[in-house]
Amino acid sequence: MYMVLLGPPGAGKGTQGEKLKDKLGLIHIAMGNLLRETVKKKTPSGEKVRAFMEEGKLVPDGVILELLKNEIELEKEGFILDGFPRNLSQARKLDEFLDKEAEKLDLVINLEVKKAVLIKRLRGRLICSECGKVYHKSKIDHSMEICKDCGASLLQRNDDNSDIIKKRIEVYLEHTHPLIDYYRKKKILRNVQGEGTSEKVFQRIMDLFKEKKIA
Ligand SMILES: [Zn+2]
Repeated sequence: MYMVLLGPPGAGKGTQGEKLKDKLGLIHIAMGNLLRETVKKKTPSGEKVRAFMEEGKLVPDGVILELLKNEIELEKEGFILDGFPRNLSQARKLDEFLDKEAEKLDLVINLEVKKAVLIKRLRGRLICSECGKVYHKSKIDHSMEICKDCGASLLQRNDDNSDIIKKRIEVYLEHTHPLIDYYRKKKILRNVQGEGTSEKVFQRIMDLFKEKKIA
């Protein structure tokens, strides 16, 4: 099964992606993390990605699809993708790419969360400096601001402050609007209310499978 998780920054894509991975036995590809991990490896593709990131440029779609291809070859059962595609052009390229692999996208879950809730979540967000796992300030032991998985220190992402947060959400909504229409027309889009605890949101996603609203 090939799935995409859509939703603005702070919608919970990373958290739900991890839960779905455990439940469905698919790989979860968080594009931001994949890019960071790729840069760490001193491979030719790592060097390529590093060059774009260091210049503050967006990594081109072709390079991203090349990385995805490697991931798919490692795991043929499918994937849960988050952080890509971010616009219509990327969505079309992803379809073309899957088509070449004789695969297709089965499901797009769109996590819907109100702007005020997103801002609140993002302001308190801490990210592991090593593995990219996301924590929330209100839910961690403040004497131990280290990652439970790898022990590295937790950092506030520098783009997680108010003005930048608002801007990121606006940019997201502007670019993904056509993307949502695109998947709706293909009849693979499912909207899921993304507010409440991560357990509740996960249950709503699982209900989609139960009710066989999924092709
Ligand atoms: Zn970590």
